Amino acid sequence: MVALAEEIQQILNSSVISAGASEGLAVSGLNKAGAVLAEPEKWALFIDIDGTLLSVAPTPDAVMVPPGLVQLLDGLASGLGGALAILTGRRVADADRLFAPLKLVGSGVHGTELRSERGGPITTLAPAIPSDVIGAMNNIAGIASGILVEQKGCGVAVHYRNAPLMRRALETELAAIIASSAYDLVLRKGRKVLEAVPSGYSKGTALATLLSRSPFKGRSPVMVGDDVGDESAFIAAERLGGMGLRVAGEHFDKQEADFDGVAGVHAWLKALAGRLALQGAAPGQSTGQSTHAG
Ligand SMILES: [Mg+2]
Repeated sequence: MVALAEEIQQILNSSVISAGASEGLAVSGLNKAGAVLAEPEKWALFIDIDGTLLSVAPTPDAVMVPPGLVQLLDGLASGLGGALAILTGRRVADADRLFAPLKLVGSGVHGTELRSERGGPITTLAPAIPSDVIGAMNNIAGIASGILVEQKGCGVAVHYRNAPLMRRALETELAAIIASSAYDLVLRKGRKVLEAVPSGYSKGTALATLLSRSPFKGRSPVMVGDDVGDESAFIAAERLGGMGLRVAGEHFDKQEADFDGVAGVHAWLKALAGRLALQGAAPGQSTGQSTHAG
């Protein structure tokens, strides 16, 4: 156990995980991220993409997937007995493209798309946005240069990272479109993005749905994310006996976050993979493959 304690302490030091993050969690001597490393087999891992697994880029298509990340996610999914899911505002198909050849379990477009088994089909949970609403939202791109309108099936994202001064005008326009539509949409504000998605869906609903099913069922959920859209999943994880780990960036500052950024998340994931591999190699230990249908 001495080796484990030293290993965890090393990770905590290298990942710059704040001491304040451990408040309210009854894990002696460890903060929240360390608690997952101490008992890796008890957790189900839910993780955001942009700003958490991947550094934010000027446009969604411009993100870079660092070498080794796909293999790391593959190993973690196996080591956790399949209990790893991506929860993203992107489409699930977009996550597949980024992490090819993996087709991870996950939810896209803020809970409106779901893949509940690895390599399985993507289910669309909400009806598509009507064409008149799509048309009105596409016109928003004409307000100023640098605005990118992204159609996502059940949602529309308006990115303004390259036109940051337009935020208020865009919010007003989007709110007016949503108010005038008979379709029940809500406005979600992310970092340099405004999204219109069907009400009643969120990363939190996706987490709860997946946690009710094998191989997630019976594990404690840990959600890792960096933005407003992850808050619903943090709340869901805490209500369901788990916790949220916050990544510092444009939404959380370093004092309130568990990781100082994407690099800290990667270091922690590598440590988690190492712990799971050790457990899988230990006599009498399984890798957590579930045999029970959920
Ligand atoms: Mg994010």
